[in-house]
Amino acid sequence: MQIDFAVIGGSFAGLSAALQLARARRTVLVVDAGQRRNRFVDDAGLTSHGFMSQDGRAPAAIAAEGKAQLLRYPSVQWLDGTADEARVDADRRLAFRVGSTAVSAGRLVLATGVRDLLPPVPGLAERWGRSVFHCPYCHGYELEAGEIGIIAATPLAQHHAVMLPDWGRTTLFLNGVYTPSGEELDALTRRGTRIEPTPVVRLEGEADVVLADGRVQRMNGLFTQPRTLMASAVAEQLGCAMTEGPMGPFIQVGPTQETSVANVFACGDAARAAGSVALSVGDGVMAGFGAHRSTMF
Ligand code: FAD
Ligand code: MG
Repeated sequence: MQIDFAVIGGSFAGLSAALQLARARRTVLVVDAGQRRNRFVDDAGLTSHGFMSQDGRAPAAIAAEGKAQLLRYPSVQWLDGTADEARVDADRRLAFRVGSTAVSAGRLVLATGVRDLLPPVPGLAERWGRSVFHCPYCHGYELEAGEIGIIAATPLAQHHAVMLPDWGRTTLFLNGVYTPSGEELDALTRRGTRIEPTPVVRLEGEADVVLADGRVQRMNGLFTQPRTLMASAVAEQLGCAMTEGPMGPFIQVGPTQETSVANVFACGDAARAAGSVALSVGDGVMAGFGAHRSTMF
């Protein structure tokens, strides 16, 4: 299949990029594997926050509405599946496979997102997106200024432990992950964060933290610091330069979301240090503009 523009990843960033290309009356193929990063929030019956006009709406509903609006444009084609074996062809077109379909695109937008590597605390993975989160701006408010626990997974827990008192009474469960320095301890004291050095054995109930000495600390919600990895190998297959962020690697992009590889653009969580729905939508707009304009300037 030969196409002018291909977008890999049909979630917030990819839908937004494809919308700009469709509105520029260009032909665009969107390939999507349907594994949005925040699908765990849908599974828990919770909602997405912080994107104005969509605040408090299920992530799946936001994405579904975006997809329905995009598919009204006749120049858009949608393919469910996983893109793989991406490469740059001699004529600088971008080739990849989706199952048995071979695609060759003039411009490619990567909107493939990241996946979260969670700390191996028993009971934590089952509560991810339900009562364990990583982003205070996304899920802090709904904890209603109650008891908030931080399960340290990396030294970035310190950052959480300084921020989260704005959202509730905060306990930092060090869990042997790091030892705060004198300066860090001062910062925690100033913010009123409690420190719990006893190791965490498991999580129970809604957000109860079971400690090695048998005590159980009941929390309204928990935060942790997943490491993020590219959800797809396509950026690596194409040779896109990466940047190492505090949470994990992301695709290096310039002002119009262009990557280091000619004719390849990237947007959303895959192409920034820490993402959100609104930021992904914004980056997607720029990636769509950038990919379109690159065909004429
Ligand atoms: P994603 O939404 O992750 O979508 C990437 C898409 O690309 C997926 O459909 C995936 O299957 C597809 N894909 C990947 N590789 C391929 C491939 N090779 N071929 C085809 N398709 C592929 N943000 C907020 O703003 N508010 C919130 O309340 C909020 N809550 C969150 C709660 C949790 C638990 C988590 C983990 C995240 C939350 N976020 C929230 C962050 C938000 O989920 C991300 O910022 C957002 O999903 C990024 O959008 P994206 O389009 O870049 O990537
Ligand atoms: Mg940018």
